[in-house]
Amino acid sequence: MDEHSRPIVIQKYGGSSVATIEKLEAIADRVVRRQKDGYGVVVVVSAMGNKTDELLRLARQITPEPPARELDMLLSTGERTTMALLSIAIQKRGAQSISFTGSQSGIITTDSHSHARIISVRPYRIQDELERNKIVIVAGFQGTSYKNEITTLGRGGSDMTAIALAGALSAESCEIYSDVDGVYTADPKVVLDAQKLDELSSAEMIEMAQHGAKVLHDEAVLYAHRHQIALYAKKSHAEKSSGTLIRPDGWPDYALKAAQIHPTAIVTAKKTMFVRMNDTNTADFLDILEHCDGARVMDMVASNGGIDALLDIWNCPDEDALKARIDPAHAGCIRCDVRNVTAVGLDIGRCTDIIRKMNQAVSELGVGVIALFTQPNAVTFVVTLDDVAAVSNVLHAFITQ
Ligand code: ADP
Ligand code: ASP
Ligand code: MG
Repeated sequence: MDEHSRPIVIQKYGGSSVATIEKLEAIADRVVRRQKDGYGVVVVVSAMGNKTDELLRLARQITPEPPARELDMLLSTGERTTMALLSIAIQKRGAQSISFTGSQSGIITTDSHSHARIISVRPYRIQDELERNKIVIVAGFQGTSYKNEITTLGRGGSDMTAIALAGALSAESCEIYSDVDGVYTADPKVVLDAQKLDELSSAEMIEMAQHGAKVLHDEAVLYAHRHQIALYAKKSHAEKSSGTLIRPDGWPDYALKAAQIHPTAIVTAKKTMFVRMNDTNTADFLDILEHCDGARVMDMVASNGGIDALLDIWNCPDEDALKARIDPAHAGCIRCDVRNVTAVGLDIGRCTDIIRKMNQAVSELGVGVIALFTQPNAVTFVVTLDDVAAVSNVLHAFITQ
């Protein structure tokens, strides 16, 4: 076959898929098979297992607020270790491969350390090596700024690397492999009878990911939506995984036409902070957030009495630094032991009857709801960590009844 006409596939393997050498070798087998099927294969890898957390802990043993530049230098080594090991495993199988860092792959980013955005992708070296029939392994989660500094793309950012390369290389498909068989109606590790969705729209997935369903990275899905790229979420170590197709389109027709609401899923973010500020104006509060790298507003209400906000802090390198910046004189409450349990679905937040029924189901559990936020396509209950599983299960039972 003419090498130039081979379709390109991007496969991304997350931390749990490459956690051990045995798992990595199994991935090498699968990648080589895919190339033999006639594809140009680009593999994006994450750091092995919980390596990123381990590296973060090491830096924090030295100081609670490590300098952002050095932290990026440190964290980027996690993915580099995996890329080299996978390339070694592939070459042991007699196939040709080469590993590249984000910078060598031409991933150019802003200079915001720990949560850089991709500005452009210049994958010339990857294209050259694909033409030489090599399998290309790319270290996910990292790039280089225009100042030639190593940057990282925020937690879970290897998905972003994969989708950006899929766009730049006009790949036929972009497959994101993890330890679950696709996208479910709730986290299958929390809600045991969650159902796998065979496909869903990127509009639904964006709403889910922005409320914390990190099975796919929110910005990666947004990018896929904007660039009209189909994404697949699949299970890595499975003989066959039908997975979930995320179509690059808007809310599905059935949801728009139906008189009744069709909730999509129940989701929870990995790390959140709930803040209640008394006598604080919005501008002052936003100023605090602007100086806290990586903290994002998931929900916020500002009124004369003050501000209630739920922040997604998974990307915040230091939550204690964020707490310290919030003026204790005005803080009615700052809690990191809380999470959102969010029901996602088109128009769900505009249907008082559904909100009333969900609220009733949660109160019958005897759970104290710290806050309730509504957005047009999402209803969020803020509860303590201990209550997340019970609330997720009861809301899931309600949306799938
Ligand atoms: P990786 O490390 O491979 O990137 P992630 O941990 O980011 O994998 O994503 C996979 C995890 O996402 C699963 O282990 C699962 O517990 C969790 N998850 C949360 N919500 C969902 C959902 N709605 N569907 C599937 N998985 C989910
Ligand atoms: N290793 C990084 C993280 O743990 C990036 C990724 O896995 O996508 O967040
Ligand atoms: Mg992930």
